Parts: sequence; C-alpha cells; structure tokens
Amino acid sequence: MIQADIRFNTTDYDFTYTPGDGDCDSNDFDVISILTHELGHVLGFDDLYDPANRYLTMSGRVNNCTTYLRNLGRGDVLGLRERY
Ligand SMILES: [Zn+2]
Repeated sequence: MIQADIRFNTTDYDFTYTPGDGDCDSNDFDVISILTHELGHVLGFDDLYDPANRYLTMSGRVNNCTTYLRNLGRGDVLGLRERY
C-alpha cells in the first residue's frame, strides 16, 4: 500500500474536536477518535465486536461524545507489535 484516503460521512454524522464541551449530542462523534480508528483500518486491522474489546480503538462500536478511542488500548498496541 502506498496511499489511502479517509472520508468522513458528514451527511449522516456530525464530527467535533471538542466532544466534552457540553454541546455534544447523540449524532456528534469525536473526529480524532474516528480518525485514529480509521487509520487502524489503513494499517490492516478489522473492527472488533467482542464486548471485551469495547475500549480498544479498533472497537466497531463507537460511542458518541467520547474521546477514549483517541488513545490506543493495550490490545491495539499488541496487534500493531505483532503485525509490524
Ligand atoms: Zn471500523
């Protein structure tokens, strides 16, 4: 792979850099969290749906108005180390 594009679906979702500002609603997602997750796909990782993985960046269930996916979880790091 030499290039990848990531496009945000701004038709169906809203994105914010400040999800903790008190003005976040049910359709607002943290742009940094989503970008970090999507970069994981660029690196070859799939979505994870096991509830035990819900706080990993590669979790396929992203909650609105949260920022915890900005930081890689232990499982994300272990996957990167194994692959790269
Ligand atoms: Zn995904």
